[in-house]
Amino acid sequence: MMETYEDIRASVRALAAGFPGEYWRTLDRERGYPTAFVQAMTDAGFLSVLIPESYGGSGLGIGAAAAILEEIHKQGGNGGACHAQMYVMGTLLRHGSEAQKAAYLPGIAAGELRLQAFGVTEPTSGTDTSRIRTTAVRDGDAYVVNGQKVWTSRAEHSDLMLLLARTAPRQAGEKPHDGLSVFLFDMRQALGHGLSIRPLRAMINHHTTEVFFDELRIPADSLIGEEGRGFRYLLDGLNAERILIAAEAIGDARWFIEKARTYATERVVFDRPIGQNQGIQFPIARAYAATEAADLMVKKAAALFDGGEACGAEANMAKLLAADASWQAADMCLQTHGGFGFAEEYDVERKFRETRLFQVAPISTNLVLAYLAEHVLGLPRSY
Ligand SMILES: Cc1cc2nc3c(=O)[nH]c(=O)nc-3n(C[C@H](O)[C@H](O)[C@H](O)COP(=O)(O)OP(=O)(O)OC[C@H]3O[C@@H](n4cnc5c(N)ncnc54)[C@H](O)[C@@H]3O)c2cc1C
Repeated sequence: MMETYEDIRASVRALAAGFPGEYWRTLDRERGYPTAFVQAMTDAGFLSVLIPESYGGSGLGIGAAAAILEEIHKQGGNGGACHAQMYVMGTLLRHGSEAQKAAYLPGIAAGELRLQAFGVTEPTSGTDTSRIRTTAVRDGDAYVVNGQKVWTSRAEHSDLMLLLARTAPRQAGEKPHDGLSVFLFDMRQALGHGLSIRPLRAMINHHTTEVFFDELRIPADSLIGEEGRGFRYLLDGLNAERILIAAEAIGDARWFIEKARTYATERVVFDRPIGQNQGIQFPIARAYAATEAADLMVKKAAALFDGGEACGAEANMAKLLAADASWQAADMCLQTHGGFGFAEEYDVERKFRETRLFQVAPISTNLVLAYLAEHVLGLPRSY
């Protein structure tokens, strides 16, 4: 039997009860940051579960982190403002030097240092990360960074940024991703000295931004691991991210199903609860079955990850199936609510917008399918 983390789930549920739909709805309307929620999650120790005990965390695995994020979403909230604090440090933990880990991890575990910004995506390269144009050029005891990122979420609410930049031209390496390096630098000192951030208003309240680097000097010891190997360092972190985002999608799906089940039981039209009609109850049942199936894959991927085994296929399938299940449940829930699904006060339209993101980010559905086709099924590479 797989560990289900019932104690952790119950604690998260109790915490989330203090942040009801109205809290998230107001923030959504005002594009506000859930500062009080993030603080409560930090104080409860939920954001440091993946950090080893020796650095001040609780040293739990991805399965525990997934349970936390699923519960937040299942209660109607959103983990987008704090999930990066949980897992972006994984690259530092696995590939950073002892000095870097000692310098940053205890502060991140305590929540005194916010590592919430992860700068990979650029406007011109899209999903083809090998074509990013942001460069970092060594100059004495510093790297000089020039370029631009887009969709860098939470950059205004972060002290540190994990940044992917080119340190050697694309043509110079054997593989397109050679020559990319990863840096961890302090944004507080950089702001106004070559770093600027512009908020990007979007369909959902995700605090996402455009980030510009103009002759930004960062200390040479910001480099994680070796120059040119940065993309490889990010890869194992991407599996963790996919599993955790899949868990958020499962939480959303469960919220939609419960919301629809309740409404279908209570709403009476033509002298009967609408849930008595098979046209209403079957889509709810179908969404439930899809969610339970997707959840099995999320749990399998998490168990493999925590066991130190390869889980690329399972992490990608978990993300694909969970994102599809949450979108199916979202569509069903909106339809079940009829016109009221569009009313802000029901939270359905907010969650509907929020869960749509998982089809696109952090990796779009097509790219997951391309991964499975090529790396699992041995079909020719399509791009
Ligand atoms: C709210 C939000 C928050 C985000 N936060 C972050 C963040 O914090 N840090 C960060 O680095 N990025 C972030 N992103 C970026 C996100 O990871 C990308 O948007 C996503 O990976 C897709 O890349 P793209 O937008 O460049 O789409 P593109 O690569 O331009 O793709 C556009 C469409 O074409 C499809 N497509 C492209 N190539 C192929 C192909 N070969 N075969 C089939 N289909 C293809 C894609 O699937 C997609 O549907 C965020 C995005 C959003 C919307």
